[in-house]
Amino acid sequence: MLQQTFAIVKPDGVARGLIGEVLIRIERNQLKIKALKLIHMTQSQVQGFYAVHKERPFFSSLCAFMSSGPCVVMILEGENAIARWREMMGATNYKDAAAGTIRRDFATDIEKNVVHGSDAPETAAFETGYFFNALERV
Ligand code: UDP
Ligand code: MG
Repeated sequence: MLQQTFAIVKPDGVARGLIGEVLIRIERNQLKIKALKLIHMTQSQVQGFYAVHKERPFFSSLCAFMSSGPCVVMILEGENAIARWREMMGATNYKDAAAGTIRRDFATDIEKNVVHGSDAPETAAFETGYFFNALERV
């Protein structure tokens, strides 16, 4: 099934010069980039994006981290794009992530784990709409 997903190179990935590395992996894995921009979110913009996590103990730290610097936001498209991008990312905790995944190769912390990916079609639709309007996607 042809699907779209939403991806982020988080502030740690941008600060460490990993934008190119992530984009190479996306292109090599036949996911098409349908939209892309560099943004620097405010705390309240992050709170809206991660609203599903607002009761979690890590929420305020996560919002501070995600607004600490610029990140790259993207829409990716391909067959089963949601699951394929999650597979390329690896588990949330890089210590549990499979060999060859982005988080296993580059993450330094459960929070500073380099990339984000939508976990279901409904969250992908919400997240792409949160960051991109019709004129910003091909
Ligand atoms: N996170 C954290 N501590 C945790 C779990 C998650 O700091 O115990 C952060 C981490 O940056 C993660 C984000 O919160 O990527 C969103 O958590 P989620 O469970 O949705 O993980 P993901 O979908 O990103 O793998
Ligand atoms: Mg998630």
